[in-house]
Amino acid sequence: MGSAFGEATGVVVDTHVGRISRRLGLTRHADAVKAERDLAALLPRDHWIAFSHRVIEHGRTVCTARAPRCEACPLADLCPKVGVL
Ligand code: SF4
Repeated sequence: MGSAFGEATGVVVDTHVGRISRRLGLTRHADAVKAERDLAALLPRDHWIAFSHRVIEHGRTVCTARAPRCEACPLADLCPKVGVL
């Protein structure tokens, strides 16, 4: 809905968005519905769609599940690195 029609009906929380949002301290919840509520409360509605796309790309290229590349991350100065080994 968001990408095709521009309708921000919620913040998409897939595995990347959930993991990175927890690492960044934006939510403590592993449950996607609860994490989505936290993100929706933090983000302006007109950023909901782009936020998920950007975080998914970040999760695929930099903040991967097994080996986050914190040394190359543009968010390193802001990130508490919650849950990173
Ligand atoms: S600093 Fe590390 S843990 Fe934090 S978002 Fe960047 S890659 Fe992920």
